[in-house]
Amino acid sequence: MRMKVLGCYGTEFLHFKSCGFLLEGSVLLDAGAIVSSLSLEEQLGIREIFVTHSHLDHIKDIFFLANNLFEEAAGGLRIYSTKAILQLLKRHFINGSICPDFTSLPHRDGHLLELEAIEEGIFHPVTKGISVRAERVDHNIEAVGYIIRSDHGHIVYTGDTGPTEHIWEVCNTLEDVVAVFIECSFPNKLQELANLCGHLTPATMVRELEKLKEKRCPVFVFHMKPQYLKTIEEEIGTLRQDRIAILAQGQEITF
Ligand SMILES: [Zn+2]
Ligand SMILES: [Zn+2]
Repeated sequence: MRMKVLGCYGTEFLHFKSCGFLLEGSVLLDAGAIVSSLSLEEQLGIREIFVTHSHLDHIKDIFFLANNLFEEAAGGLRIYSTKAILQLLKRHFINGSICPDFTSLPHRDGHLLELEAIEEGIFHPVTKGISVRAERVDHNIEAVGYIIRSDHGHIVYTGDTGPTEHIWEVCNTLEDVVAVFIECSFPNKLQELANLCGHLTPATMVRELEKLKEKRCPVFVFHMKPQYLKTIEEEIGTLRQDRIAILAQGQEITF
């Protein structure tokens, strides 16, 4: 399975985009970075978007993508998340005021945008042999992480979270976890702020990884606030764990 990192930071800065991870050219994890990273042809390839929560840095490019695909999209776009998260998305963003209500615009056999609620704890098959399962995490708003299953094993994507338990317990029931994507937003000196916002620092991130039974698979760190990137890199370096790498925008990973 191929993953392209369209953006992997906890906000936007010059040369730094928020979160968007494209799997096999068609399934997207979070929608904070899409349109400024892909050609129109590549944007047309996106069919399914899994949203972890309703914070703007994870949803904003839904607006731009739907605008760009208005005429061209062959089968429309599906946005997946839990019912509660989709309700927040619909009420506060795709509501006809902030963003046109693309879910009511007719398009071929359906609508340009379809919101599809998924149940937590069940693998939902999408395209190209990929199945995706939502598991709750602990952010400062309703949020889930995703477990992605393919022929190559399971990938864990935490989305935004502070210290949490459930998703790790689920991961520990899976045989073949081949990669973990874990957030780390702030440096250790901002631990109190991180706790208040439901985010991790290198100190709390490493404690999260201790909860995971799988100790060899690569760990990719994302959602760093760019202004603290250097400090976060140094603090992660002092952990002396070779399997932990900090993600970079534009990176392509094959599992
Ligand atoms: Zn975020
Ligand atoms: Zn968030």
